[in-house]
Parts: sequence; C-alpha cells; structure tokens
Amino acid sequence: MTGWQWVTDEMFNGKMTSLASAIGTGRLLQIPGVYELVKEELNNTVLESLADEHGRCMDCGSLLDDANECHSCNDTDNQENI
Ligand SMILES: [Zn+2]
Repeated sequence: MTGWQWVTDEMFNGKMTSLASAIGTGRLLQIPGVYELVKEELNNTVLESLADEHGRCMDCGSLLDDANECHSCNDTDNQENI
C-alpha cells in the first residue's frame, strides 16, 4: 500500500464511480453478490413498477377491474361491484 498513499478516498470514489458507469449496469450485476444486493434493495420497487405496467394492483399484484380497483385489497368495500 506504501506507493498508493497519494490516492485520496475522494479520488478513489470518483474514479470508481466513473469506471462503474462505463462498465454498465448489466456487467455490474454479474459481479458476485451485486445482483443479490440490488435485488434485495429494489425488490418492492421492481414489483410495483411491473404491476403498474401490467394493470395490476401495486400492493398485492392482483388484476385490477375496469375501474382500476383491486378486489383483493378492497373486498369489503367493493363486493357488490364484482
Ligand atoms: Zn391489491
């Protein structure tokens, strides 16, 4: 480590960030352990985003009705509308 003392944390982080950007998300996710960490961090956001794109409830994933209501989440309120 003796020869690298001129490298500050700020320099290291700045260079690592720019190299990571250049490498790209796809390859970063292939680094052992990274995929699992990102998956854990973004799990709910991914599911909500997919639900939104597919016309499904962002809370439970069930298919929404024509009025964009979820019968699984609102089954006491909207029972008569089914
Ligand atoms: Zn729901």
